[in-house]
Amino acid sequence: MTTAAGDRGPNEPIPAAGERPWHALEANEVLAAFVVDSAGLTPQESARRLALHGPNALPPPPQRSPWRRFLAQFQNVLIYVLLASAFITALLAEWVDTAVILAVVVINAIVGFLQEGKAESALVAIREGLARRATVLRAGERHEVPAETVAPGELVVLEPGDRIAADLRLIEARGLRVDEASLTGESVPVDKGSEAVAPATHLAERFGMAYAGTLVRQGRGIGVAVGTGSGTELSRISALLCGIEPLTTPLLRQMDRFARVLSLAIVGGAALLFAVGTLWRGFSAEEMFLAAVGLAVAAIPEGLPAILTIVLAIGVQRMARRNAIVRRLPAVETLGAVTVICSDKTGTLTRNEMTVRHLVTAGGRLQVSGAGYALAGGFQDDGREVVLDEWADAQELILAGLLCNDARLLEHDGEWRVQGDPTEGALLVLAGKAGLDLKLDRERRPRLDAIPFESAHRFMATLHHDLTGHHFVVVKGALEAVLPRCARQRSGGEDRPLDPAFWHAQVEDIAAAGDRLLALAYAILPADRTELTLADLDQGLTLLGLVGIADPPRDEAREAVGRCQAAGIRVKMITGDHAMTAAAIAGQLGIAKGRVVNGAELDTMDGVALRRAAAAASVFARAAPEHKLRLVEALQANGEVVVMTGDGVNDAPALKRAEVGVAMGRKGTEAAREAAEMVLADDNFATIAHAVEEGRTIYDNLKKSILFILPTNGAEASVIAAAILLGVTLPITPAQILWVNMITAVTLALALTFEPPEGDLMARPPRRADEPLLSGYLVWRVVLVSTLLTAGILWLFLWELTEGDSLDSARTVAVNALVMGEIFYLFNTRFLHRSVLRGGLRGNRAIWISIALLLTAQLAFTYAAPFQALFSTAPITLAGWGLCALVGFALLLIVEVEKWLLNHRQTPRHGQEQPS
Ligand code: ATP
Repeated sequence: MTTAAGDRGPNEPIPAAGERPWHALEANEVLAAFVVDSAGLTPQESARRLALHGPNALPPPPQRSPWRRFLAQFQNVLIYVLLASAFITALLAEWVDTAVILAVVVINAIVGFLQEGKAESALVAIREGLARRATVLRAGERHEVPAETVAPGELVVLEPGDRIAADLRLIEARGLRVDEASLTGESVPVDKGSEAVAPATHLAERFGMAYAGTLVRQGRGIGVAVGTGSGTELSRISALLCGIEPLTTPLLRQMDRFARVLSLAIVGGAALLFAVGTLWRGFSAEEMFLAAVGLAVAAIPEGLPAILTIVLAIGVQRMARRNAIVRRLPAVETLGAVTVICSDKTGTLTRNEMTVRHLVTAGGRLQVSGAGYALAGGFQDDGREVVLDEWADAQELILAGLLCNDARLLEHDGEWRVQGDPTEGALLVLAGKAGLDLKLDRERRPRLDAIPFESAHRFMATLHHDLTGHHFVVVKGALEAVLPRCARQRSGGEDRPLDPAFWHAQVEDIAAAGDRLLALAYAILPADRTELTLADLDQGLTLLGLVGIADPPRDEAREAVGRCQAAGIRVKMITGDHAMTAAAIAGQLGIAKGRVVNGAELDTMDGVALRRAAAAASVFARAAPEHKLRLVEALQANGEVVVMTGDGVNDAPALKRAEVGVAMGRKGTEAAREAAEMVLADDNFATIAHAVEEGRTIYDNLKKSILFILPTNGAEASVIAAAILLGVTLPITPAQILWVNMITAVTLALALTFEPPEGDLMARPPRRADEPLLSGYLVWRVVLVSTLLTAGILWLFLWELTEGDSLDSARTVAVNALVMGEIFYLFNTRFLHRSVLRGGLRGNRAIWISIALLLTAQLAFTYAAPFQALFSTAPITLAGWGLCALVGFALLLIVEVEKWLLNHRQTPRHGQEQPS
């Protein structure tokens, strides 16, 4: 257990506080022990302590050395089969075969090793994108910092949804409830306070402590960091430290299993072939053994699992580069099947750069000029500049917006930035434009207490006094939340009876332009009030007026909405804003409007009505997090595959429930990020569209790799099998087969992993989520290509022999025909749905590089003396090469015709298994 005395570095100036543990010390004793006051450490002191105590991070799990990782590649049943084959060929003194088999083993290990490296850097990219953050108080100011930089003695601010960054002794807690399940296993959140408890109290009952790794469910608090990094209780629970997800998805696992089963079947098939060849066809046992080994090594798709993982790793890295961080890898596959995206509005579809454009008071309406957060701008009445001195009501409204506000404006290189909620930032800018002193005018009315903003109740309230004994409360929020609490309205410097109809009419006017609306109200409270309760707001507020705040749509969001719609994905907007604001913004974004459904309406709907509304409407306004959950469920009941975005702690259930939960990386809480499958580093809707595109590309490339590798393995194997069954001399020796297998795996198959998205990728409807990958079509394609290649090779081989060529050169022609076939077939595989005859030569340089490498290798194989000696090859004529190319080209054409025929056999239902 951490003790006051035991946790200190050698040079730490913190006075010893005895042997009592932190939870048994009073808050002020802890502050004193850490030499920190309620304003927090200074940035310098924090940096100094951090340097002294080390970062607030758990030590990384030990890494395997590269050498061990390489050796681990050999621990695989397939490799054992190959090694056994190598051993036996060596006994038979078939050194070439031994060498080639060993080369296959080593190359396979290298590909596996590289693939692991790729996988690891993909996971690092994910981890980096998910670095935890913490809000700290330094020199009286709130800062959001990486959790790693929290130093001992730091004051950490807690808000709903935060994953707590360090062990904290709470000095302030307001309605704070913490979920300590990760530490104690208890899933009911615990109420926290700032009181000390007895030294012997069990961890679960130390109410004045908040521990690293636990989750704030409700309320707010501030605590002193008493344990950081490996000094936390969390670090004692080692089980939490490991648990990195392997780089895999259901599809990859399915393929992995398939490859194993297939390999075993192939070994069985090879044994059968051995029996048939020796007993029936009269080949010698030695010859047949080599043939059987050749068959097994040729047919086993040993490279397939590695290639698929590389496709996934490349895709996940590409997504991370485009700001979409995939937390759960299976989501990569699901993304390609998404049919509906439900998105938040503020900050995701809009820029979250709020600017006040309208002020409404009982006496009239003013426009506000200026852009962004710059303080330049003025006030106009119907286009005429006005001096605010003549608009007392507006001045009060603006002052109220300054007081009921937690944001800060910072100037950096002449540019103004908001720290905190952009809505509140806009009110600060407004105050600046009105000539208020943002610092002084606040200091003259110190804040005594506050009820923070929460999406659930849609308002915020602050309690102030004016230094002369007058206490008052200021409330700001959605009109529906504020108006019912008002009895009067401010007009001409006086409180007058409220005219709700007037205000509702104003709302309609402003919201129709897409502006979000805030109502501001105040009330005088008795001078003895220093704490605010909800009851204080229940009666008798005076409405000061409304502000209309513009938050324009993101340009790229509009374009992304269009792309999603073209891809058969419906976009729905779920927002806490007013229905008319939401409808206007939806219109600007090109989201099909239809009827706007309000959260309150959703509450009254039964299951059937809800399903209907979920399908028909695209805009849901005044929606709370629980509505998101109901909508996801209704959409899923309609058979949709749903992406749902969210940022708050209460959004977590909806994110978990959706097929792909998407959390915001910037404004999102840790709770939402943990519930999500994917995190948007830039909070931008366009990133979701990119991720869907990447998801589809990855799925396509997985499919293409399978469609390329399996038929070529099939062809290689069936050439050997067919020759033995027909009783003809092997057209390709086992050593030659192994050579082809090895050389094409590291060229052609690898090049396919770099395949860019197809042009029509986002013009296709989503694939069906339950579409099987290992379909009948795949089997058909394997059989077709294997048969064609086998026929071509056998024909060419026999024809060369009848032309009087030597066996060696006939075999060399056969090998080159196989290679040519693979090259041409690679082009077939580039496009799943379209013909490659249009545009199939461009778009992937890796293909051409790999072909150049492969052809160079084949020239060496054919003409270089050492290769001739090793593989019994012989030079072939130009005409021979021409015939090889002809076989390949014929294959290309036939597969293209097959694609065309299957495409036109029926109007294919999109999303169903299709000819590729
Ligand atoms: P979305 O789900 O699209 O992101 P949102 O997050 O903008 O919607 P909320 O933040 O829940 O929705 O806001 C809902 C309403 O609450 C707003 O229309 C506004 O009237 C009010 N509101 C927003 N921010 C504040 C705030 N800081 N203080 C007081 N009221 C606010």
